Amino acid sequence: MNKHTPEITADERADLLDQAKQMAKAWAAIGRECDTENRFPTETVEPYKQSAIAVMAVPKKYGGLGADIHTAALVARELARGDPPIALAYNMHQAMVGIFRNTAGIDDDVRASIMTAVGRDRKILCGPFSEARAGLSGLADTVAVPDGDGWRITGKKNWSTLVLGSDLIALNATITDPDGSVPDDFRERARREAVFIIPTDSSNLTVEHTWDTMGMRATGSHTLVLDGTPATRQMYGGNFRQGLVGEAEWAAMGFSGVYLGLADKAYEQAREILRAKHLGATLGAQDTDIKQVGYVQYALGRMRTQIEIAERVLDATGQIAVEGRYEQWPVAERKPRWDTVKVVTTETAMSVTDEAFRLVGGSSYRRGHVLERLYRDARAGYLHSFTTNQLYDYVGRYELGLIG
Ligand SMILES: Cc1cc2nc3c(=O)[nH]c(=O)nc-3n(C[C@H](O)[C@H](O)[C@H](O)COP(=O)(O)OP(=O)(O)OC[C@H]3O[C@@H](n4cnc5c(N)ncnc54)[C@H](O)[C@@H]3O)c2cc1C
Repeated sequence: MNKHTPEITADERADLLDQAKQMAKAWAAIGRECDTENRFPTETVEPYKQSAIAVMAVPKKYGGLGADIHTAALVARELARGDPPIALAYNMHQAMVGIFRNTAGIDDDVRASIMTAVGRDRKILCGPFSEARAGLSGLADTVAVPDGDGWRITGKKNWSTLVLGSDLIALNATITDPDGSVPDDFRERARREAVFIIPTDSSNLTVEHTWDTMGMRATGSHTLVLDGTPATRQMYGGNFRQGLVGEAEWAAMGFSGVYLGLADKAYEQAREILRAKHLGATLGAQDTDIKQVGYVQYALGRMRTQIEIAERVLDATGQIAVEGRYEQWPVAERKPRWDTVKVVTTETAMSVTDEAFRLVGGSSYRRGHVLERLYRDARAGYLHSFTTNQLYDYVGRYELGLIG
C-alpha cells in the first residue's frame, strides 16, 4: 500500500472513461465558440459537478471513487480530446483534490473537511498560487495579516484557472507580523508562506476579467483580487512549499493527460484532412492526392510515433506511482522526476500541432480552423510549473551537486 494505491475497481474505471467520452462530446461542441468569445463555459459546471468525474479522486470513505493518479490522467486525456482548454480548467480541480488527499502538510480534520466538501457536497476547487511577479517560483506577495483568531488576506492572483466555476479557492499567502510587515529574510518568508482554503463567496473577494491570451482561452484564468478577505483557523492548510509542492505529481500527471489528449485531437483531425485532401491537377499529375506525397506519409508516421512515446511515458509514470517505485527516488529529485512526464507530453503536443499545421497547410492558418486553435492551445504546455526551462535548470544543478 502507498498513497497512490487505487481503491477504484476495473468496472468503475471503465465507467468513468465512458462518462469522460460523453462529456468530451458536449465540450467539443462548444470549444470553438468559447475560444472565439474568450469565455469560460459556466454551463458545464453543473453537469461536471453531478458526474462521477468530479469526485473520482476522493477516497471512498468521503463519497468518491478513490481513483488513482493514472486513471485521473486517462480521464483528463479523454476530456481533452473533446476540448483541451475546458479539460485544463477542470484539471485544476482534480489536481487540488489529489494534492489535498495525500499531503502530509495539513491536519487530518482539514483533509476530511475538504474531501467531504468535494465527495459529498460536490464542491469544486481551484488553486491560484502563481503571482504576477514570478509565477510559482516567487514566494507569495499575497499576504495574510493576523486578525483576531484568523487572518485577512490581501493580494492578486493572476492565474486563477476555473475560478468562475469553483466553490472553494486554495491559495498561498505569506503570514505577516501583526503590523502587516513581511519578514526581510527569504528563508523566514518561505516558512511563513501558508495555504488557505477559502469559499469563493467570501467577502472582499472579486474576480477581474483579465484573461485574454493566445490560447487556452476557455480556462477563464482571470485575476483573483483579495482585499482583506477573512480566513479562519479552519481555512488554514499548513505550509505551502513543504506541503502542497510535495504532491506535485498530481499537477504533472493531470497536465500530461490534457496535453496528450490535445495531441490526439490534433493528430486525428490532421489525419482525416490528409486522407481526404486532393490538390487536383498540378504540373506533376492529373490529380495530386496529398496522401501519396512521401513526406506527408513520413511526417504523419512520425507524429503518431511521438504520441505513442508520450503515451508510454504517461503509462509508465502511472505505474511508477501505483507500484510505489517513486519512494526509491531521493526526495530532492522527486518533483523534476515526476515532471518528466509533463515535459514529454507538452513537447509532444507542441510538436504534433506544429507538424499538423505544416502538412495541412494554409487552411490551418486561418482563424476558426481547429488546428489553428490547437496550435495556440499547445503553446501553454511549456508554462505549467515547473516550466520546462526551470526543470532542466533544476536537474542540472542537482546533478552538479549544487542542490539536494
Ligand atoms: C493556461 C494556464 C493556466 C494556469 N493556471 C494556473 C492556476 O490555476 N494556478 C496557478 O497557480 N498557476 C497557473 N498558471 C501559471 C503557471 O503555473 C506558472 O506559474 C506560470 O505559467 C509561470 O509564469 P511566468 O512565466 O510568469 O513565471 P516566471 O517564474 O516569471 O518565469 C519567467 C521565466 O523565468 C524562468 N524561471 C523562473 N524561475 C526559474 C528558476 N528558479 N530557475 C530557472 N529559470 C526560472 C522560467 O522558465 C521562464 O522562462 C497557469 C498557466 C497557464 C499557461
